[in-house]
Amino acid sequence: MPEVTLQTQPQRLREFFADLASATHSRLLLDYDGTLAPFRQQRMEARPYDGVIERLGRIQQAPTSGITMISGRPATEVATLLQPLSGIEIRGAHGLELRTAEGELEQMPLDDADADALRTARNQLEGFGMITALEEKTGGLALHWREQPTHATEQMRALAVRLWTPLIAGTSLRLLSFDGGLELRVTRPHKGDAVEAIRQALPCDARVAYLGDDATDEDAFRSIGTDGLAVLVRAEYRATAASIWLRPPQELLVFLDAWIAATCPW
Ligand SMILES: [Mg+2]
Repeated sequence: MPEVTLQTQPQRLREFFADLASATHSRLLLDYDGTLAPFRQQRMEARPYDGVIERLGRIQQAPTSGITMISGRPATEVATLLQPLSGIEIRGAHGLELRTAEGELEQMPLDDADADALRTARNQLEGFGMITALEEKTGGLALHWREQPTHATEQMRALAVRLWTPLIAGTSLRLLSFDGGLELRVTRPHKGDAVEAIRQALPCDARVAYLGDDATDEDAFRSIGTDGLAVLVRAEYRATAASIWLRPPQELLVFLDAWIAATCPW
C-alpha cells in the first residue's frame, strides 16, 4: 500500500468518486466510534458529529447506494445512537451480530471455550473492583481507561494483561489494544469478515468504501478490495492499510458530501 500523503489523496479520491458516479450499486461501510462520533466517557453520549445524521439520511435514500454500520458496539446501541435515523443495516460486535434494516437481530453463538474464558476474565476483574471500567460485549470484554490518570492507566493495563493472557490458550480469544483501553475478544468473525460478507451479497461491480479509525478497522481496510476505498478517519495519522486519511469532523463531512453528489440524482 503506498504511503498516504496529502498530495496523493485528491487524485485517488477523484478516481473513486468518478467511478462511484457511474456505478449501478454502491455501499458505504462505516465504523461508529471515533469515525462518525467523538469519544465520550459516557458511552451513550457519543453522538455523531453535527451534520453526519443528515448526510447519512440522504445517502440512505439514494437509489443506487446504501449504508452498513460495522461496529464493536452491540448493534442495538448503534441503532439508538443513530436516531432519528432508522432502517440501516448494522453489523455489531465486530460482525458477531447482524441487525437488519428492518430491526431484526441475529446473533452467532460463541464457541464454548471462548465463552468460558470470557466469563472467567469478567469475574476476575470484578474481584479487583474494576467492573465499572469493564464493558461487556457480544464476544468480548473491553477495559476502558480513557481519561484516567497515566499511573492508573498503566496499573489497569498491567493487571488485565497478567490476568487475561493465561486464559487465551485453547481459545480464539486475543488481547487487542485500542485507543483508551484493552480488549479481550473472539477473533472471528472480525470486521474484515463482515466486509467480505457484505461484498459477496452485493453485485460484483458494486463500489464500496470503508471508513474507520481504530486498530480493529485494519482487517476491514484489508478486505475492501482493490476497487474499494479504505479510509482512515483520525485526528492524527498512524501506520495503516487504508489508502486515504481524513481528519474528522470537517474532512469527513466533505467526504460524505462527495458521496451524496456522486450517488444522489437530485
Ligand atoms: Mg472506531
